[in-house]
Amino acid sequence: MKLTFCGAAETTTGSQHLLDINGQRILLDCGLYQGRREEANLRNRTFPFDPTKLDAVILSHAHIDHSGNLPNLVKQGFKGNIYATDATRDLCQIMLADSAHIQQSDAAWLTKHQKAAVEPLYSPQDAERCMRQFVTFNYDRPMPIGDGLKATFIDAGHILGSAQVVLDLKDNATSVSKRLLFSGDVGRGNNDLLLDPAVPENIDLVLMESTYGGREHEQTQGARNQLTDILRQALKNKGKVIIPAFAVERTQQILVVLHELFRDNLIPDVPVMVDSPLAVSATEIFRLHPECYNEQMYNDLFEKQNPFGFEGLTMVRAANDSKNINQMHGPLIIIAASGMCEAGRVVHHLKYNLPKPETTVLFVGYCADNTLGAKIRAGDKVVNIHGEPIKVRARITGIDAFSGHADHSELMDYFKRITGKKERVWLVHGEGLRSRALQAALQEEYPDKEITVAKLGVSVTL
Ligand SMILES: [Zn+2]
Ligand SMILES: [Zn+2]
Repeated sequence: MKLTFCGAAETTTGSQHLLDINGQRILLDCGLYQGRREEANLRNRTFPFDPTKLDAVILSHAHIDHSGNLPNLVKQGFKGNIYATDATRDLCQIMLADSAHIQQSDAAWLTKHQKAAVEPLYSPQDAERCMRQFVTFNYDRPMPIGDGLKATFIDAGHILGSAQVVLDLKDNATSVSKRLLFSGDVGRGNNDLLLDPAVPENIDLVLMESTYGGREHEQTQGARNQLTDILRQALKNKGKVIIPAFAVERTQQILVVLHELFRDNLIPDVPVMVDSPLAVSATEIFRLHPECYNEQMYNDLFEKQNPFGFEGLTMVRAANDSKNINQMHGPLIIIAASGMCEAGRVVHHLKYNLPKPETTVLFVGYCADNTLGAKIRAGDKVVNIHGEPIKVRARITGIDAFSGHADHSELMDYFKRITGKKERVWLVHGEGLRSRALQAALQEEYPDKEITVAKLGVSVTL
């Protein structure tokens, strides 16, 4: 039995790990590597294994850094099953279609800049074709995947449908049995929508994320009060409040919290616009999967019918309706993708409203270095949008407690709660510095265990 790290090693994107067992090859996640365009293009096109020789894929959750290269895998000849939870499958349907459109515009950009025709990584047809290979099973039901291999999904509390994958392995040649945990991305707990991450039991080997090793978030409990204060202040200015947010999960989380703030009269009644076709589709999928909700959400569902809808909320799909928002006067809340302001409709709202002092921009998620979001958040007084210098006179603010990832202390707690020997641990899904910070802390607390930062392309015998 062997495990090879094919992505998300000393970086956060491109999650892919290859499991060899009894002559079968199983891929855990098939994520897209996201980075500089040329480098990403190169890395995503070539798999470090033969897709036609792969038996199955097990998918932890729908985020593109975990699922985004599936259409390309199928395009390159993968014929096996893609195992996922029901909600992950439904989210993949819209997210991979969206990703295919981004691939097409990336190819157009590369064609222009390299002055040679570049084919998109995959097309909307490839994304659609790959959806036919999905096989779904829900949490806590062991599923036989192959000879000597059983998989169980348990909740990861990270996004709708997200799972930790518990793998029961039995090597036919040596009769050795091991239980391997693939954490996927681990949520913080106390989520406004989701259940807390489930506790994995009797684990021998751990493949674990480390996104926020060495970093702490603000407390989740304070997030609502903070949001209330910021919105009250902002709405008093009679301007627009722009919330750049990821279309899947963060948008729905903010909607649920806003719903409660309106219901409890904690903020004034103002119109709310969700301006992102992907977010509108994603919200519909959220309504289909109450099995992923925490107790309060689950119960609210029967009382309120729709926790994502309230008076004053408009879901904007058509481009024309989006443009009309410019003509509207504040106070008004606009939630639009993308969260890092690199693309999507939020860019237009920022271009139009950043120069106005009555505007507030509220960041509720992570912005990678060098993105437009990071520049605005850092306090740049002029930013470049569509090649034009735009003056920033708006009030810029942020809340990081809504993060979908456990922070350092929460990861340490998560590891502590896992039962079993946990004799060997490989850390993935973190920048090198982050993974090493978590490695050092775990090693200090558990000197008898072998804790390693996974390196790209390295194989380990299980
Ligand atoms: Zn994720
Ligand atoms: Zn991830």
